[in-house]
Amino acid sequence: MEQIDHIGIAVKNLDVSIPLFEKLLNSPCYKTEFVESEQVYTAFFQIGQSKIELLQNDTADGVIAKFIEKKGEGIHHIAFEVNDIVEEMKRLAGEGFVLLNDTPKLGADNKWVCFLHPKETNGVLIELCQSNKG
Ligand code: ZN
Repeated sequence: MEQIDHIGIAVKNLDVSIPLFEKLLNSPCYKTEFVESEQVYTAFFQIGQSKIELLQNDTADGVIAKFIEKKGEGIHHIAFEVNDIVEEMKRLAGEGFVLLNDTPKLGADNKWVCFLHPKETNGVLIELCQSNKG
């Protein structure tokens, strides 16, 4: 893995949390995006080489809404940038990690992504991501 690409934070309301994080980070939100594959609204902040991704659902049955219902707002996942996501998925599956999708899917920020089941990673949801350059 290359570096931490971003940290995902589950929030109830982006309209509240975007200005909050702009104040906190002293840096403007540079992009908001609706991610079709996850049905999630996202907002991004660039901090050096890394990013903060705020995540919100507008329906109670969404993954982020369910997460907040169980655990409250807070850190939802850590995303690592990889050079070859297919190779990395093979390697991790071989090491016994449970992948939540069999093939990379198109996630936020025009990246190929795959999630690992948190039960194998000390309760932390891990995302692999690779820039979609093609
Ligand atoms: Zn993410």
